Amino acid sequence: MLVLKVVSLITVPPLYWCMEPTRGNYCRNDVKNIDELRDALREIEAAESAEERAELLSDILMNGHDGSGGYLTFGNNKIAKNTAIFNMNSATDCPNADSTESDQSEVGACQVPWESCYAHKAENIYPNALPKRRRQEYLWDHIDAQTFAEALLRVKERKRSSFDFLRLSESGDFRHRGDIVKANTIAKMIAPEIDVYTYSASHKLDWSESEHFTVNQSNALADYGDREFTALPEGADLPDNTVWCAFDISEKEGDDRPKCGECRLCINEEGPNVAIQIH
Ligand code: SF4
Repeated sequence: MLVLKVVSLITVPPLYWCMEPTRGNYCRNDVKNIDELRDALREIEAAESAEERAELLSDILMNGHDGSGGYLTFGNNKIAKNTAIFNMNSATDCPNADSTESDQSEVGACQVPWESCYAHKAENIYPNALPKRRRQEYLWDHIDAQTFAEALLRVKERKRSSFDFLRLSESGDFRHRGDIVKANTIAKMIAPEIDVYTYSASHKLDWSESEHFTVNQSNALADYGDREFTALPEGADLPDNTVWCAFDISEKEGDDRPKCGECRLCINEEGPNVAIQIH
């Protein structure tokens, strides 16, 4: 008992410094449970009809496969349960990881300092977060837009609670034009049942093909997307034509605090720019 007590008093520091940014340069074969995902994808490929493929993928999106939970998550601390989250890649592998305005990546520049990236912190604290996001990237890269869209609509039919919005990339970012075209095709096919939105700091990409989903422009280095979404240091003044994020500014706690999906400022194509504070 004494030993247990002593052990419980030892605090383990978060391992924020462990994972160096890869910007996508990592070995897919080393990802935990990747073979189980590959088996599941082979089963989808072997299905005899588009309906069967969509059904099988909806199973994986909702419930996962051996060694993994579902690849869609509904709601979290800041996002309401009517909103599904799908990550096209992890923060560790984000194309804009550890970039700045003066040290840009090939596709963009993140406005949040690397050490303040919540998604990256989570990948260093929770051992399953990074492998799961890497499998999400693999899934995204190996399923065509049509099957993905039909599976999302099937998930909506199967779910007992509402599924109104899809948030792409809570971690990571758009890597190339192919991500934009695929997201746009999916968004077009699942509208108006499900609205798709995202945030991106990949300002060097051509965003002209994103007309069917809402893009929150996450740096001020180019004019793209539907609105600016700015991270401001504490104490900074709010720029013109900008409102504070409803969740961030709310002093209330619990259910009264509006989450994304209840608040639609970043989901609607029209509307003001939005700002959050970097903590
Ligand atoms: S403004 Fe609304 S939709 Fe945008 S991040 Fe804040 S709570 Fe979410």
